[in-house]
Amino acid sequence: MSLPDPGDYIDIHTHHGTHPEKGIFSVVSLMAHEEAGLLPLPGIAYTFGIHPWHLSASSYEDHISGVRKAAADSRVLAIGEAGFDRLRGPDPELQRKAFEEQALIAAEHHKPVIVHCVRAWDELLRARKRLRPARPWLVHGFRGSRDLAAQLISKDMFLSFWFGFIIRPEAGKLIRSLPRERIFLETDGSGAGIRNIYVKVSADLDISVSGLKRIIYDNFMDFFG
Ligand SMILES: [Zn+2]
Repeated sequence: MSLPDPGDYIDIHTHHGTHPEKGIFSVVSLMAHEEAGLLPLPGIAYTFGIHPWHLSASSYEDHISGVRKAAADSRVLAIGEAGFDRLRGPDPELQRKAFEEQALIAAEHHKPVIVHCVRAWDELLRARKRLRPARPWLVHGFRGSRDLAAQLISKDMFLSFWFGFIIRPEAGKLIRSLPRERIFLETDGSGAGIRNIYVKVSADLDISVSGLKRIIYDNFMDFFG
């Protein structure tokens, strides 16, 4: 299993992982409908799940057995991205079933979950309450309000921010209001530079880039346990 170095930039959620770059540790989100394999590359770790956009009743059994198989693989650090999307994907009932089954698989393997959630926060909070998982979940691509962020964190979740939001000046206020031991940064495979994101956020927090690297490294070790 590949682990980051305390001096690495950690990109907690990306879809590009075939060309690892020195100094960057990438957590590559593999989706069950893709044919991508788990290549044992340095500087790369994986998560595996059924993305709600690519969820369908006809492929469900096939994809869930892929998740089950991946969960047993030590190179897969977490299950996901999985979750709820009110703007895209199949009906909420199937989304709920798929999320809960994946969360239960994660729990069986003592792994955390990476969450994709669009306008379905009530649904996500209900799932957390119902399933009572021992491990935290990480909401990726976050760009909500301070109140919502605080609420999710109070329910044992970590947050990784949408790359396009976190580089805006107004994001500084949000990031300063949150506990540092709950934050991650990501590119989501957008082509945005993780280094630039670290520079922006370290300025927002009034700390050095290496100080921010240390915080996120510690969060990584905490989240993936
Ligand atoms: Zn993604």
